[in-house]
Amino acid sequence: MAVACPCGSGDPFAQCCRPVVRGEVEAAEASALMRSRYTAFVRRDVDHLLRTWHPSTRPRTLDLEPVQWRGLEVADITHDGSAADRATVTFTAHWVDDAGLPGTMRETSRFVREDGRWLYVDGDVG
Ligand SMILES: [Zn+2]
Repeated sequence: MAVACPCGSGDPFAQCCRPVVRGEVEAAEASALMRSRYTAFVRRDVDHLLRTWHPSTRPRTLDLEPVQWRGLEVADITHDGSAADRATVTFTAHWVDDAGLPGTMRETSRFVREDGRWLYVDGDVG
């Protein structure tokens, strides 16, 4: 039985986010990069998060919140009509904190494609 991908796509991890998280392939779409970044949060893969962060907004280091991620729903994907290399992805992520209390975050993330690579720029929470 194949391991389901943490991003909730319904596909096996080996055929979904794993090759992107490992850097074996570039994400074909902004939404695929967004999913791989969620998966990296689940797996506490700071390297992938920093590698896919645009240099203009990338933090020097990243301390991950002590939460367990429990699910992802991609709500909306938009492409800027005048620029195929820009996209936003709106999603909701569910988590449980170290006291066992559940939480939800909703974010609209901005992505840009440079030299064929999608990168996370920033996001609006709420
Ligand atoms: Zn996935």
